Amino acid sequence: MNDKNDIQNNIAVILQRIEKACESCNRDPKEVKLLLATKTVTAERIKLAFDAGQTLIGENKVQEIKSKFNELAAFPHQKHFIGHLQTNKIKDILKYNVTCIQSLDRLDLAEKLQQRLTFEKKEIDVLVQVNTSAEESKFGINPEDTIEFIKQISQFKNIHVKGLMTIGLFSAETEKVRKCFKLLKSLQQEVIQQNIPNIKMTELSMGMSGDLEAAIEEGSTIVRVGTAIFGSRIYPDSYYWNESK
Ligand SMILES: *Cc1c(COP(=O)(O)O)cnc(C)c1O
Repeated sequence: MNDKNDIQNNIAVILQRIEKACESCNRDPKEVKLLLATKTVTAERIKLAFDAGQTLIGENKVQEIKSKFNELAAFPHQKHFIGHLQTNKIKDILKYNVTCIQSLDRLDLAEKLQQRLTFEKKEIDVLVQVNTSAEESKFGINPEDTIEFIKQISQFKNIHVKGLMTIGLFSAETEKVRKCFKLLKSLQQEVIQQNIPNIKMTELSMGMSGDLEAAIEEGSTIVRVGTAIFGSRIYPDSYYWNESK
């Protein structure tokens, strides 16, 4: 089979998995967006996914966004940032038309982002990344600090919080992973009850290649899928989450 068929078939399989998961919990599949996690995937292969009708991608590194930008520019699509964002990369994020930063997890980052947005007269959507698995290796705000953090973010007028994002525990034990997703959902409900101005909680970005069914059953509205569509990557995921790289 060639690359084009592989990618198209894999996408079809994922769409079926999403549909089945929705069926099992009486949700409308239209409520769940598929985001293609395209770290290390060449622009050429991303275009094959666009040919198959996909329009939403997520990148982990600004450098990759930059290097694929020209080749993808002619294709209508949206780009989210799903990696760990360093403050010195904010300018680039805005330059390369990222529409949503899914990984906002620090006040200093929000402050600098607001400053830059004001300067450029731009606005941006964000999701607040929560560390639901209590693993030290992962980024994200602690669950117990989430409400206070969101209250602080709400003062930044050019930053529009649309919901929450998490990376579930890397585990083959579905019930442990599901706990992470349940926690994100319950935090969403808590935030909604607080009625914080300038804050929306419509999106829950959770679920990846291995655990999207559980995530959808627990309320996911964005699943982020890489491996199951583009194949496995050479480096472990920790590589893409390392600040110094
Ligand atoms: C790589 C990545 C994904 C996709 O993971 P797969 O297991 O390859 O589907 C999702 N979310 C984030 C933040 C990622 O870095």
